[in-house]
Amino acid sequence: MPIYRAPVDDYKFLLHELFEVEKQTDLPRFDQMSADLVDDILTNAGKFCEDVLHPINQSGDEEGCHFENGVVRTPKGFPEAYKQFCEAGWGGLGAPEDVGGSGLPGIITIAMTEMAMSANQSFAMYPGLTSAAYSALYATGAPWMKEHIVPKMVSGEWSGTMCLTEAGCGTDLRLMKTRAVEQPDGTYRMTGTKIFISGGDHDLADNIIHMVIAKIPDENGQIHDDLSTVNFFMVPKFLVGEDGKMGARNGVSTGGIEKKMGIKAQATCVLNFDDAIAWRLGPKPTPPKPGEKVHASAGMAGMFGMMNAARLGVGVQGVAIGEIAYQNGLAYALTRRVGHALTGPKEPDQPADLEIVHPDVRRMLLHSRSFVEGARAVAMWTALNMSIASSSRPDKDAAGLLADLMTPVIKAFFTDMGFEAANLGMQCYGGHGYIRDNGVEQFVRDGRINQTYEGANGVQAMDLVGRKLGRKGGAAPMALLGQIGGWLKDNGDDAMAPFVKPVQRGLDTLQQATLWLAQHGLQNPNDAGAAATDYLRLMGIVVVGWMWARMAKLAQTKLAAGGGNAALYNGKLNCARYWMERMMPECAMLFERIQAGSATIMAFDADAAAAS
Ligand SMILES: Cc1cc2nc3c(=O)[nH]c(=O)nc-3n(C[C@H](O)[C@H](O)[C@H](O)COP(=O)(O)OP(=O)(O)OC[C@H]3O[C@@H](n4cnc5c(N)ncnc54)[C@H](O)[C@@H]3O)c2cc1C
Repeated sequence: MPIYRAPVDDYKFLLHELFEVEKQTDLPRFDQMSADLVDDILTNAGKFCEDVLHPINQSGDEEGCHFENGVVRTPKGFPEAYKQFCEAGWGGLGAPEDVGGSGLPGIITIAMTEMAMSANQSFAMYPGLTSAAYSALYATGAPWMKEHIVPKMVSGEWSGTMCLTEAGCGTDLRLMKTRAVEQPDGTYRMTGTKIFISGGDHDLADNIIHMVIAKIPDENGQIHDDLSTVNFFMVPKFLVGEDGKMGARNGVSTGGIEKKMGIKAQATCVLNFDDAIAWRLGPKPTPPKPGEKVHASAGMAGMFGMMNAARLGVGVQGVAIGEIAYQNGLAYALTRRVGHALTGPKEPDQPADLEIVHPDVRRMLLHSRSFVEGARAVAMWTALNMSIASSSRPDKDAAGLLADLMTPVIKAFFTDMGFEAANLGMQCYGGHGYIRDNGVEQFVRDGRINQTYEGANGVQAMDLVGRKLGRKGGAAPMALLGQIGGWLKDNGDDAMAPFVKPVQRGLDTLQQATLWLAQHGLQNPNDAGAAATDYLRLMGIVVVGWMWARMAKLAQTKLAAGGGNAALYNGKLNCARYWMERMMPECAMLFERIQAGSATIMAFDADAAAAS
């Protein structure tokens, strides 16, 4: 059975030493964070993930969810673990205190998200989606919903979903068919079918609050083929009165659960809305005038907020799957005997050396570890920026821009790299990794969906180059280049040269690539489209590289001062060197690919290829 050890020491290093959370008392929700409290939360969360969630990960994958007579059941052990999860209050860690949460900032809750996702992604998605749903309802719902529904979701008594996808549309929501018709009492009646809904139905909670997008027909009963009349709705599985009392079953039924490649203990449902009672959450849309071009209705704002939070969560899932795959690859390489070290046997009295002696195995492990620890730091830095953005600090606008810029990078780069790490962890096992009993092929299967849902990674790349780069005259990339460039300038001493120089080269390349996109993308949008994935990866490598430079600086300082966790600091320096030597050189290659433009790609004759 695979192992899992929560990376609590790394979190402590990041929170206390790199980001010094205890000193940030001017940020919202940070004033209550003593070092002891933070350590207590991390230790207990880690223990819960190791002892309760991880032991039912492999069995949950083997058993999967069940769908019988219209009812969904989760695998053995899931309802009991969910009860324990709720009793411990883990689902409400980041929720505001006025709705029963602990009110902790994102930089702490991200740790719980990652550990739970490592230990059991299928399980962690149930409360993960609930948290995205209650945050959206808290932001957009009527006072009675905040009073009666949100607290039940925070406690986990009720769960939540996000319902966007339909058979005919996932990325292109303009094609959505689900409609909601206003009733005289101000509620709506919803009709349509949503597919692939995570946690759409299950036996863990007493009620499920669906957050759904649908189109409101115009006065002629027509729905428009754009986003102008799309709105965001709350549709409970069981009706809820304004006094909070749960009533009859609403017109939402489960059409089935998907048989899928991974996350098999997560119920991915078809949901049918048959005249279901729905409550509109966004402002009422006004249909566009003839000829007027509408990109998105104001009613979609709540949905975008929910999706941005969920995208960061999915990026963290990439880190999580990389972490557990790395841990198991390492454990195997430290016990498996195969071949001899290239420089001569390390253990001549044994028939073979341990697998770990081989440089290529070490390369696989360091590739994963340097990604996981570097990406974890970027995720925390982004969560910190979100807190700064909602504070009164002078740099709050820049922090908001950076968090917004990082969202697609975290979603796509982290899930691509997480999948690479899952694959490498399995490779350490040789053929045994491919065998189900050993449990590591599950990480590859589970981690694969992270690249697709919450917006396919190619679509994230288009969001980065098509929307985020140019917004407000390029303010976001300028803020990023300025912040990293300023730090490199201030830390360019000899000892830091092996870290600062490669990041500076990567940053210069990123700047040139950004200019190239600004010039060519406007002239030919296909050039931007063809470059998008490489550009996103380039930005990801540079930002993780900068975080490694920061961690290397800190490790050098701590080692020079003596004391502390020397093994951790030395490990950090080694990973930082790996990233500089092995990942930063990719930047030049990516820029070369970006500059290749789109001509060859667009010359691909897909019809001829299909016919041949
Ligand atoms: C296990 C699972 C769980 C899910 N959970 C949920 C959920 O809880 N709620 C929910 O609403 N949905 C959910 N989804 C749906 C998921 O978000 C969509 O499948 C995803 O957004 C892609 O949409 P699609 O499948 O319709 O692919 P399409 O939109 O048809 O796209 C197909 C491919 O085309 C490419 N592509 C499309 N548009 C562009 C573009 N503009 N630029 C570049 N490339 C493009 C991408 O590579 C994409 O992968 C889930 C899906 C799965 C499999």
